[in-house]
Amino acid sequence: MNLRPLKPLALAFAVTVALAACQKTEAPAEPVAEAPKLQVDLSQVAQQPIALRADDVSPEIQACQDFNGHVNAKWLAANPVPADKTTWGAFPALGERSLQVQHEIAKAAAAGDFPEGSMERKVGDFFKAGMDEAAIEAAGLSPLQPHLDRIDAIAANAEIPAYLGKAYAEGEGMLFGFYAMADYNDSNTNIAYATQGGLSLPEKAYYLEDREDYQKIRTAFLAHVEKLMTLAGADAETAKAQAQQVLDFETRIAKASLGRVELRDPATRYNPVSLADANASTPNFDWTAFFAALDVEAPASFSLAMPAFFKEFDAMLADVPVEQWKTWLRFRAIDGAAPYLSSAFEQANFEFYRKTLAGQAEMAPRWKRVLGALNGSMGEGFGQLYVAQAFPPESKAKMEALVGNLMATLKVRLENLEWMSDETKVKALEKWSTFTPKVGYPDKWRDWSGLQVAGNDYAGNLMAASAFNYRFNLDKIGKPVDRSEWGMSPQTVNAYYRSTANEIVFPAAILQPPFFDVNADDALNYGGIGAVIGHEMLHGFDDQGSKFDAAGNMANWWTDADRENFNARTDKLAEQYSGYEALPGMNVNGRLGLGENIADLGGVTVAYDALKRAQGEGFADPMVDGFSQDQRFFMNWATVWRIAFTEAQLKQQLTVGPHSPGMFRAVGAPSNLPAFAEAFGCKEGDKMVRSGDDRVVIW
Ligand SMILES: [Zn+2]
Repeated sequence: MNLRPLKPLALAFAVTVALAACQKTEAPAEPVAEAPKLQVDLSQVAQQPIALRADDVSPEIQACQDFNGHVNAKWLAANPVPADKTTWGAFPALGERSLQVQHEIAKAAAAGDFPEGSMERKVGDFFKAGMDEAAIEAAGLSPLQPHLDRIDAIAANAEIPAYLGKAYAEGEGMLFGFYAMADYNDSNTNIAYATQGGLSLPEKAYYLEDREDYQKIRTAFLAHVEKLMTLAGADAETAKAQAQQVLDFETRIAKASLGRVELRDPATRYNPVSLADANASTPNFDWTAFFAALDVEAPASFSLAMPAFFKEFDAMLADVPVEQWKTWLRFRAIDGAAPYLSSAFEQANFEFYRKTLAGQAEMAPRWKRVLGALNGSMGEGFGQLYVAQAFPPESKAKMEALVGNLMATLKVRLENLEWMSDETKVKALEKWSTFTPKVGYPDKWRDWSGLQVAGNDYAGNLMAASAFNYRFNLDKIGKPVDRSEWGMSPQTVNAYYRSTANEIVFPAAILQPPFFDVNADDALNYGGIGAVIGHEMLHGFDDQGSKFDAAGNMANWWTDADRENFNARTDKLAEQYSGYEALPGMNVNGRLGLGENIADLGGVTVAYDALKRAQGEGFADPMVDGFSQDQRFFMNWATVWRIAFTEAQLKQQLTVGPHSPGMFRAVGAPSNLPAFAEAFGCKEGDKMVRSGDDRVVIW
């Protein structure tokens, strides 16, 4: 489990999206091998009917009482969550469309005769191998056998660290997080970070809380482990006993792990130590040997945070019986590979992780599952083919203009903040001046030449990619940070902020309706992607981002009084969101979603100011479908967050966070803006109106 400080706009909905228009006027920055052109026909890929339409609005639901219902109820009632999904609405519908575009690209790549080493060939071979169900079925568990044999060969606890070193070196690390990332104290240099990990369930609460639904999930988890162990050859009695051992093992880890709210403080993830001190803190685990096993030069220091977790890990190396260790390692290896093995394993994986934990009724068709694996294995490489087919260059120019206007507007707001001292403002403006926007796709593509992909070995391809990607990350330890890199592929329907680079990033696939439309009126673009741009910028000033300075280093640039003032305002915002009841007896956790909610409130506020700035003095409202520009601005914000969940998925999001479910994002920020009340003629006392002490203004 990596805990990198990337801040996606929304929960990562498996994948992605594309534009119908097939415009090839601009090639990717570094085109891959010359040769046969990929022939892709996107004419049959349907638009998703998700953009704001007057017909979808429900006049009988009052905008001032239930704005989400007013804009979204009718569409959601007519478009239930599909059986192969756990959510449906703007993000997932765009994701679905992206998948369909990707499918056309992958099929064309698989059908063509592309030279060895070309991206088309790698994508085509990966897809072909994934679709070859007969070969996957025949292989059964065998692709994993060498790995399982190594686990079987462990004879004593003292051999476990060496085994872990080997497994991590192959990209199969599964206990603690270990990766390269910018040093929180020197954002230009990558260092190694070791963080907590090792849980199969989504969060520690699932192991520890006494709630009836979590108890049921624990029982189902036992059955899942038992099933996998049986499929892998254990007899019934042994499998049952092993399942209990796995749950006990992970419950111990869960008890020593930090919770999601605690992890919001970036300081909990950062603790630079020398190798000598690291080795002293875990007498049973030699970090010097671990670096050597990874073939990484031993650094002077690395970040070993979360002391309770690593103390427990160290204790477990000594006191958990070797057979229990082997059972857990074996389970994690099989469980991790199950989606890529034969159907019995894949089915077991679906039953527990998708059906029980997320409420998905049916398995997605094979091609979607394979594209999910392809995106996870070589998403940015695949993205090269995607942008060539589905990203019109005029989108980039329009986006850059929007970002420029949002930036200028935020500056004015920062300068005029009433609650912040001039001293802190200077620092805030300094941070503002170093924002780096990235739009569409990377200027420099990653080199994939070292990745071998075979047209007949699906699990082998997954393992090769895992090793290749992990090596790519490990090779950064001790090296300068490459700020041209992207943390998301272009075909992902999402956006993110990264605090150590102070960058805001908008992949190609989010740049379509309802977020963005080159032909739409300003109200829609500012209420959609404009507010999203604002959201990402404001992450630089949320409860976490505000702890990083203009250079991307973790540093306190606040006066104590300003920080107190900020905390008082954000506390109130947390309280507001905690007041939203998502399921009977289960409210939103305003603390867990605080950063997102600060970013939403600031994002909508700045986007609204920017809309006014773009309209200029003497603007004549054109009124569209009977709605004013201000109304359309807020209505499109709500459209972006249009979403329905299965109950299990909603529970999971409430627990794991950090994003508040979309129906609350649709209303949370607007309820604090007087411009919203004015646009819809709302009165004091209406649900969508917060006033006086109840209203929060931060940025
Ligand atoms: Zn966000």
